[in-house]
Amino acid sequence: MVKQTIQIFARVKPPVRKHQQGIYSIDQDEKLIPSLEIIVPRDLADGFVNNKRESYKFKFQGIFDQDANQEIIFEHIAKPVAESFLAGYNGTIFAYGQTGSGKTFTITGGAERYSDRGIIPRTLSYIFEQLQKDSSKIYTTHISYLEIYNECGHDLLDPRHEASSLEDLPKVTILEDPDQNIHLKNLSLHQATTEEEALNLLFLGDTNRMIAETPMNQASTRSHCIFTVHLSSKEPGSATVRHAKLHLVDLAGSERVAKTGVGGLLLTEAKYINLSLHYLEQVIIALSEKHRSHIPYRNSMMTSVLRDSLGGNCMTTMIATLSLEKRNLDESISTCRFAQRVALIKNEAVLNEEIDPRLVIKHLQKEIQELKDELAMVTGEPRTEALTEAELLQLEKLITSFLEDQDPESRLEVGADMRKIHHCFHHLKKLLNDKKILGNNTVSSESKDQDCQEPLKEEEYRKLQDILKQRDNEINILVNMLKKEKKKVQEALYLPAKGRHEFRHSQSPPFPLGNPEGGQRMLLSSAPSQAQDFSTLGYRSSLLHKKTGMREEMSLGRQEAFEIFKRDHADSVTIDDNKQILKQRFSEAKALGESINEARSKIGHLKEEIAQRHIQQVALGISENMAVPPTPDQQEEKLRSQLEEEKRRYKTMFTRLKALKVEIEHLQLLMDKAKVKLQKEFEVWWAEEATNLQVNSPAVNSLDHKKPFLQTSDTQSELSQLLSNKSDVNARKILPSPCRSPHSQKQSSISTPLEDSIPERPVLSIPLTGDSQTDSDILAFIKARQSILQKKCLGNN
Ligand code: ADP
Ligand code: MG
Repeated sequence: MVKQTIQIFARVKPPVRKHQQGIYSIDQDEKLIPSLEIIVPRDLADGFVNNKRESYKFKFQGIFDQDANQEIIFEHIAKPVAESFLAGYNGTIFAYGQTGSGKTFTITGGAERYSDRGIIPRTLSYIFEQLQKDSSKIYTTHISYLEIYNECGHDLLDPRHEASSLEDLPKVTILEDPDQNIHLKNLSLHQATTEEEALNLLFLGDTNRMIAETPMNQASTRSHCIFTVHLSSKEPGSATVRHAKLHLVDLAGSERVAKTGVGGLLLTEAKYINLSLHYLEQVIIALSEKHRSHIPYRNSMMTSVLRDSLGGNCMTTMIATLSLEKRNLDESISTCRFAQRVALIKNEAVLNEEIDPRLVIKHLQKEIQELKDELAMVTGEPRTEALTEAELLQLEKLITSFLEDQDPESRLEVGADMRKIHHCFHHLKKLLNDKKILGNNTVSSESKDQDCQEPLKEEEYRKLQDILKQRDNEINILVNMLKKEKKKVQEALYLPAKGRHEFRHSQSPPFPLGNPEGGQRMLLSSAPSQAQDFSTLGYRSSLLHKKTGMREEMSLGRQEAFEIFKRDHADSVTIDDNKQILKQRFSEAKALGESINEARSKIGHLKEEIAQRHIQQVALGISENMAVPPTPDQQEEKLRSQLEEEKRRYKTMFTRLKALKVEIEHLQLLMDKAKVKLQKEFEVWWAEEATNLQVNSPAVNSLDHKKPFLQTSDTQSELSQLLSNKSDVNARKILPSPCRSPHSQKQSSISTPLEDSIPERPVLSIPLTGDSQTDSDILAFIKARQSILQKKCLGNN
């Protein structure tokens, strides 16, 4: 057991604006506990009131200033947790801080650079690296990704995300077993056998989260995300399985609704935007106060899920993310205060070990067999399952004579054979039952004679019954355990199967369970075809495209608008930059792949040459009749050292290629994510534009309000403008297919008010679905209207 208080770290984000001096200072004296001092400028501290505090000091296990990069954060904060997780302890790392303070950046990473990848990708990389190194145990890794928004749990890895909206998916709910263990219903577990698979799951979840987010539900700032790695390990042949969970948590923004100013008493406990963070704080307060018996974990889903991480069986670490700018001082101070309370909580982490009943049965069966063999050796008789007919007959004779024997000292001797003993008992039981059936009234003189023996038999009978009952119970328990296990195995098989569904085009097959070497082999065999391997990465973007509105073909107008939007969008620079880097990496990987192939064939040649040389030498030895092999052949030595050199080169290149592959994968995922984001932002902008249009456009209003045709030229120019803007297509209220009837066209050539030129149909409301069909309808309509107007103008002239 490891007793430990929750570790707290602070990370200061680089400011958006230029550095504001004198707001904080960090004291990192090696001998002392690091402390962070936040200095509230006097103007903010509300003038010169005497009782205003001007500086606040907080102690942390570690403080990371603005220049601390992601690598340092991983090494100091996440790696120790990952290490104890690998040893079988539960671990949690959670980031707490106001929106924009760098929680997501710290936990998941930045969206731009590979070097910005955060704790999750780095930890995954570390974990899989370690698992591959350790061949002494059999490991199984699963991933789950849960989002809690408004007290509702959503499975971010639910494959149905593609087709359904968040509200339609089954909610993840909490179940508590009699031992108060928490189980999450509807949260899928996906097996990940490689770092790539785990990374894919992370990005899939992030993308699902982004897609589900709308301006109305600001999920990214108001929801909590819990990425969990589940690890089970066991030594080959051992019945003990170890389970450990690692939660990597990106909490909702901790800001309060009402900013109340800065300064001791003014920092009142205002309302949280996030109720579950409020409950988290209550749990933390309860835990940090001594002698509190009730901890209100059940108040919210998040505290229930993280119950073990807070005051339970877990090694927990908190990262307080701080955006230490003047306007954020109050939030920063409250984040630090929260951390100080958290630091008081003591957890007790234990190894979670479980006995695998299947293996226990196997052991027992083996033991039975061994004992049987031993017995057979001692008795000199081969031991069969059942007794032979002759043996049975012999036994029954013995029983009869035993029963008939009047001597109270007489014994039934069958030898040290349990089969025979059991048979005797069964037979006696049968006789007894038969006698009961015959009737208690017909008491024969014989039975009267044996009355004295009755209590003894009764007792034996009861004993026997007890033994039987005991055995029955044992069997039942084992059968139940087996059933449970079977169910678990089925579930485990079913879930990964569901998970794999997402990865059916994945470039590398997962290595087989129980063969930790498999991963390595897979990489080796994929090395020569690396370039082709990378090309299959495209599957993911098609998956992502499917997930966004992109699956519906965009109308031309929208496509054009999207191109313009993309050009002006800041993220497109990132996408382009990453594209460039990707290109470079691809060609580097390709070149490396070729060099590796070369090295391989060189190695092959060298080996062959050495073998040839060897044969020659032996042949020479024989022909010259030399019993002792000649002195070491210099040529062969040279070839061998060349071979070693080539092998070293191969290894170095291979390691580089492996790293490159991970980097490419990551960059590709980053780009996919950026694309989805861009698409989403375009959709929002598009909808806004359309709404504005609906409000402002006289062209549309003219329809609604049935304005007379007098405005022809105005309307026309508006329309042309609309068309050139290409953003008109989502104008909400239009008339359907205005020019479909020849009658109406005929009418339109006459100089009448505009509404006359349009068939008398009810005004139709078209929802802003982003539906291409609707778009092209609208576009067609507007074009048609334009031509009607043009005709009208010509007619007027
Ligand atoms: P939160 O998740 O707390 O709301 P984010 O992680 O989204 O905040 O960070 C807000 C912005 O600040 C992002 O653009 C992010 O890239 C940037 N950022 C945060 N922390 C750092 C850091 N340590 N170094 C560089 N940029 C950072
Ligand atoms: Mg965030």
